[in-house]
Amino acid sequence: MSEKKSFIYKVCLLGDGGVGKTSLVLRYCEGKFKENYMMTIGSNFSTKKVELEDYPNFDIKLQVWDLAGQKHFSFVRPPFYRGSSGILMVFDLTRRSSFQNLLEWKEEYEKVVGTKPNILVGNKLDLAEDGEREIGTQEGNSFKDEIGALSYHETSAKDGRGVENIFKEITRDILEKSGKI
Ligand code: GDP
Repeated sequence: MSEKKSFIYKVCLLGDGGVGKTSLVLRYCEGKFKENYMMTIGSNFSTKKVELEDYPNFDIKLQVWDLAGQKHFSFVRPPFYRGSSGILMVFDLTRRSSFQNLLEWKEEYEKVVGTKPNILVGNKLDLAEDGEREIGTQEGNSFKDEIGALSYHETSAKDGRGVENIFKEITRDILEKSGKI
């Protein structure tokens, strides 16, 4: 039997307050969703084992960091970016301003850690489907190229669609970029 290879990676979620970063982490790590909005103060992190079906001998843990989105907490952010291997750039499909602001988020992050594998995530797919969509799938896809993201995904932290996939995908991207696969 081949030996297990262990990896632990830090992944940061970036994006405006209220786009659903905490909810995505909660959905992925605990399978839950909360309707009540609670502003993240500072940062939280959770750890979760990632199973990649085609790499059964990899023991991978993701340390997922959810950073305070509000601009006035910017002074707390640089230390939390440090040591991260990948980023999920999250916007709200029903709020255009959160989409535009991602360029600034990315710039702030890259000043601290440089370019890292990153994925663009449009969250609140359930609300978008209820007619509240402000960003179309095609627009999301073209923005992916503009912002230098490896892929674009739409998720709903509420019903869980697409959530596991974004964490698996960023894990694969990190493993690929670091030559592990
Ligand atoms: P954060 O500030 O980016 O961490 O955002 P939160 O995770 O705190 O979410 C902000 C609000 O949006 C909360 O009231 C959540 O319940 C709600 N929310 C987050 N994700 C979704 C989603 O996918 N669908 C819906 N309908 N609401 C969501």
